[in-house]
Amino acid sequence: MKDKTFAQNLLAWYRKNARDLPWRRTSDPYKIWISEIMLQQTTVNAVIPYYERWIKAFARIQDVAEADLQTILTYWQGLGYYQRAKNIHKSAQAICQHYHGKIPDDPLILKKLPGFGPYTIGAVLSIAFSKRVPIIDANVRRFVMRLLAIQGHADPSQDEKILDFIEDVMPVKAMNFFNQALMEMGALVCRSNEPVCILCPVKSNCLAYQKGIQELIPTAKVKDIKDIQAVIAVLQKGNQFYIQKRPSKGLLADLWEFPGGKIERGETSQQALARELKEELNTKLVSSSQIMNVQHFYTEFRVKLNVFSCQVKESLHNDPTHQWVTLEELKKYPMPSGSAKIVEKLKQLHARSSREQAEQLLLEA
Ligand code: SF4
Repeated sequence: MKDKTFAQNLLAWYRKNARDLPWRRTSDPYKIWISEIMLQQTTVNAVIPYYERWIKAFARIQDVAEADLQTILTYWQGLGYYQRAKNIHKSAQAICQHYHGKIPDDPLILKKLPGFGPYTIGAVLSIAFSKRVPIIDANVRRFVMRLLAIQGHADPSQDEKILDFIEDVMPVKAMNFFNQALMEMGALVCRSNEPVCILCPVKSNCLAYQKGIQELIPTAKVKDIKDIQAVIAVLQKGNQFYIQKRPSKGLLADLWEFPGGKIERGETSQQALARELKEELNTKLVSSSQIMNVQHFYTEFRVKLNVFSCQVKESLHNDPTHQWVTLEELKKYPMPSGSAKIVEKLKQLHARSSREQAEQLLLEA
């Protein structure tokens, strides 16, 4: 489709309808880079508070480079995909060391930095430097599949045709707005459920709309979500709780959590608790009582955490990967979302019990 009006119509629509988002009020490549990494796999509304908190703590790329990894992970806590935060940290250090703290606008240099894949390179180059580089995210993929009436699943196997299309229609200037306009169209108008074709500025270009098959594109995927049951041991000494650091490699690396793990086939939760405490802390479970359940959803599975308050035989000590900490101190320890939910519930239980004690004292006075 060699049609200049496509880009013109899209850009005109974007100027009128683009959402006012914090990362759209800046041309600083560092801030645009951070927003783009945060937005991968997370919705705009969920990202806003994380982005604002991050920029307040790390206003410049130098602030990221100078921070320690634990602080970086704490500011990332809740966004998931912690490898991304580690890559930001490493790339910020490399950019400060080799490029005077300025993000290079050369794709060949960016490609060598941790976490800079084709999407991130395209987003940073086009949005921060207005370079003519097309990008494809889930919104763009769905939008263009409908424009071209490409049937099938929305996955990277469609991207060659999508790239050809974008390269055909992209403008000579205003590439920063053009790529954002494609993404914004997918988010606001050409939505995954119920595209609002009546408001679409390019419906005259849309083959799916002309054929009346827009709601059938892309083909819906049936998700096979697995359920995982796990046990968690909350060990308490006075007002302190025992947490441990995960290994530096593998799933949720370097994050802190309560002891515990998956219930194996044929095990009761008590057996799983006793086994996990033995394996992880080499200690014997003396007694336990369930205090809460927490559910957490990952892309491919759902985890139900059965949380127990436990007493164990041996006394447990602090070392670099095991710590007794108060609820207040826990905010300095980055945790996976499931453990963070447990902390929130413990805080609620703690606040309720303090309130009840205060009421009791008042009654007795
Ligand atoms: Fe999407 Fe409808 Fe516009 Fe086609 S006409 S691009 S289906 S919103």
